[in-house]
Amino acid sequence: MTKRVYNFYPGPATLPLQALEKAKEELLNFRDTGISILEISHRSKEYDELHNEAIDNVRELMNIPEDYKILWLQGGASTQFWQVPFNLQVEGKPMEYVNTGGWSTKAIKEAKHYGEVKVVASSEDDLFRYIPKGISFSDDTAFAHITGNNTLYGTEFQTWPKTSDNVPLVCDMSSNLMDQVIDVKDFGVIYAGAQKNLGPAGVTLLIVREDLADRAPEDSPTLFKWKTEIVKNSLFHTPPSFAIYFCKLAMDYLKEIGGVPAIEKINREKAKLLYDVIDRSNGFYRGHARPDSRSLMNVTFTLESDELEAKMVAEGAKRDLIGLKGHRSIGGMRASIYNAMPLEGVEKLAEFMKEFHEEHQ
Ligand SMILES: *Cc1c(COP(=O)(O)O)cnc(C)c1O
Repeated sequence: MTKRVYNFYPGPATLPLQALEKAKEELLNFRDTGISILEISHRSKEYDELHNEAIDNVRELMNIPEDYKILWLQGGASTQFWQVPFNLQVEGKPMEYVNTGGWSTKAIKEAKHYGEVKVVASSEDDLFRYIPKGISFSDDTAFAHITGNNTLYGTEFQTWPKTSDNVPLVCDMSSNLMDQVIDVKDFGVIYAGAQKNLGPAGVTLLIVREDLADRAPEDSPTLFKWKTEIVKNSLFHTPPSFAIYFCKLAMDYLKEIGGVPAIEKINREKAKLLYDVIDRSNGFYRGHARPDSRSLMNVTFTLESDELEAKMVAEGAKRDLIGLKGHRSIGGMRASIYNAMPLEGVEKLAEFMKEFHEEHQ
């Protein structure tokens, strides 16, 4: 057996072992072609089948209606920070954003290249510890943008804000895609870099209600427009075929264990294990996120001193629990417990946290 440890890094992140094994098994000979998925033409019949299976998996797992298109793009979620406003801007209308952390801040910065941006709610006043309540978007905005889960701060929307029918809600779900059941019809556009909760780095998933892709100016660079890849089924040019292949394997595994409803249940159980340890530690562990805004995916907390945190990171690594250091912007600790993190990994971490507390109180 190859040695494996529990990987709590925020992204690229842990992947399902079953999918890694499958990729290993098929690496030299993809579907009896005698060549690897890494070598195959993206115009081959075998690749085309795989490409569509990956799309079908997304549609099935998220129960996506037919009038939404599913695209595999490149450039990461960061490219969507400008591609979203480029494709959805409407002359004379502002774009409305909610600022819940570092990724929202970056998205807002890029949107400003395309017109007036209004930040309608923000939690910057309290170090992004919470998701603002009572968010309201105007009827006269081109679109409304939120960040579903804030990887750095460990907060996540618990309910989705509403927009009026003519205003599409756009959500960056890079770190919480498929972590719980959602109704895709509540959104106009969903995008996610794959490397957190879906698969490896190198591909971005975009789910877009088809009519929304008609807004981009016709006379603009070909690949700026989502429409280009809608027409070509994400095969306008060479797609990141290995990344798409691996996302497909990871989704096969997710389907096998019961899909999003099943993983949501496990995710809630995993998150509760860690938040319970934090809440019962008499302040030894200080949760960064307010309880009503806590993320299922990234559990953030601090300890009394930097030294103690460094010690915890080092001792965790000795127990095969790696990647527990928090993001540089808030310091402290962070356990990223995405879909692919098994319950046993989180149980081990909770046990370690209790013991570390006992030893240092
Ligand atoms: C990681 C992350 C990003 C950045 O993704 P890239 O694919 O690296 O551009 C954007 N948004 C959120 C919420 C993230 O967690």
